[in-house]
Amino acid sequence: MRRYSAFAIAREALRHHTGWERAWRSPEPKKHYKVIVIGAGGHGLATAYYLGKNHGIRDIAVLDKGWLGGGNTGRNTTIIRSNYLQDPSAAIYEKSRSLYETFSQDLNFNAMFSPRGVLMLAQTQHEKRGYLRTAHANALQGVDTEWVGPERVKEIVPIINIDGPRYPVLGGLWQARAGTARHDAIAWGYARACSGMGMDIIQQCAVTGVRSEGGTVTGVSTTKGDIACDKLAIVVAGHSGQLAEVAGFRLPIESAPLQALVSEPIKPCIDCVVMANTVHGYMSQSDKGELVIGGGTDSYNGYTQRGSFNHIEDTVRALVETFPIISRLKMLRQWGGIVDMTGDRSPILSKTPLGNCFINCGWGTGGFKAIPGSGWAMADLVAKGEPGPLAADFGLDRFREGRFIDESVAAGVAH
Ligand SMILES: Cc1cc2nc3c(=O)[nH]c(=O)nc-3n(C[C@H](O)[C@H](O)[C@H](O)COP(=O)(O)OP(=O)(O)OC[C@H]3O[C@@H](n4cnc5c(N)ncnc54)[C@H](O)[C@@H]3O)c2cc1C
Repeated sequence: MRRYSAFAIAREALRHHTGWERAWRSPEPKKHYKVIVIGAGGHGLATAYYLGKNHGIRDIAVLDKGWLGGGNTGRNTTIIRSNYLQDPSAAIYEKSRSLYETFSQDLNFNAMFSPRGVLMLAQTQHEKRGYLRTAHANALQGVDTEWVGPERVKEIVPIINIDGPRYPVLGGLWQARAGTARHDAIAWGYARACSGMGMDIIQQCAVTGVRSEGGTVTGVSTTKGDIACDKLAIVVAGHSGQLAEVAGFRLPIESAPLQALVSEPIKPCIDCVVMANTVHGYMSQSDKGELVIGGGTDSYNGYTQRGSFNHIEDTVRALVETFPIISRLKMLRQWGGIVDMTGDRSPILSKTPLGNCFINCGWGTGGFKAIPGSGWAMADLVAKGEPGPLAADFGLDRFREGRFIDESVAAGVAH
C-alpha cells in the first residue's frame, strides 16, 4: 500500500489525482478464516488491526451488515478523555487516549486528533465532591487531570455563564490532554491498515446465525452464505443483545437510542469540550464551525437510530442556560445511534459460554474514546484465549460475582 505523504499530495495534484489507490479492497468472502470479527465499527476494526499488528494473525474477515463505520463510530460526538474513577477503567481509557496521540503516525492516516482539553462542570455540591474524588483517584492512577475553580473555568471557556439561573458553576474537572478526533477517520484508518495487511473487510454482509459443534464455534451464517472460522469476535455495540441471542447466550445489556445535533457554523468561540452533566448537555466546536451538541439517552429501550424529540429540547435548553450566547443559533442536523449499556456503565470484554467466541460490547454512550485501547485488549483476548491485564476485570463473570466497576457517575451523560 502506498504511503500518504505531502509528496504524494503534490504528485497527485500534478496528475489530476488519477494515481490514488482504493483505501481498502472489497473482496467476496472466503470459505474459512482463522478469525471472524462481526462489526466493522471502530472497535471491530481495531480488534482486527491489533490482531495483525501485535499477534501476527492476518487471516481475518471483518463482516458488517451495513457500511464500515456506519454504526455508532460514525455517529458520535468524538470526545476522548480518560478521567474515569475506577482503576481498570482509567487503565484502558488512558491506554486508548495515548494510542490516539500517535494514531495518525502509526497508521499513516490523519485522524485529526485534537487534544483541546475536556472540562466537566460541577454544578452541585454532590457533583463537586464526586469530581474531587475522581481528581484524587486520577492522581493515583497517573492520569493527568485537575480540579479547577469557577474563575479558572471562566478563563478556559470565556463564553460560559458561571452564574447560571438554576445551577451556578462551582468548578470543574479539567483534563488538558483530552480532546476530539475525526470519527470516520478512525474507522477508515484502521480499515485501510487491515486491508493492507491482507484482511478482508466485507460490507453489506449481515450475520444471521452462529454455528457451533460440541459447544465451540465453527462459523457464521450470513446474507452472503456460510463462512467457517476458528475464532469469532462479536463487536456490534447496540446489536450485541441480538447477536448474543443468535449465539445462544444472554447479556446484561440494554440498547437505547442516543442522539446528537449540530448548529449552523459560526466563527470560533469555544476551543475545548465542555460537559454540563447536571443540566445534561455538552458542547464543542467542529473545524467547520458547527457547535457539536449532545445530551442523554432516551429513557426507554429501542433500536431506532433516531431518538426522541424531547431530548433535543432538553439538551438545547440546558446548553442555552450554560452558554446564553448560543440562544439564537439555528440547529442544522440531528441524528442518533443505538448504544449498548450495562448496569455498571462499564464495558464487557469477555469469553462467552460458547467456546472460541468472544464479545466486546457495553461501551454505551462513551466508547469512541476507547477504540484503540479496546481493540488492543480484545486482540489480546482473542489471540490468547484469556484476557490480558487491560481486559481482565471486564469479563462477564463480574455480573455473576458482583464485582461491578461502577462508572455511572463518570458516564451519567458524559461521553
Ligand atoms: C450520538 C452519540 C454520541 C456519542 N458520543 C460519544 C463521544 O463523544 N465520545 C465517546 O467516547 N463515545 C461516544 N459515543 C459512543 C460511541 O459512539 C460508541 O461507544 C462506539 O462508537 C461503539 O463503537 P463500536 O465499534 O463498538 O460500534 P459501532 O460503530 O456501532 O459498530 C458496530 C457495527 O456492527 C454492525 N452490525 C450490527 N449487527 C450486525 C450483524 N448482525 N451482522 C454484521 N454486522 C452487524 C453495525 O452495522 C455496525 O457497523 C456516542 C454515541 C452516539 C450514538
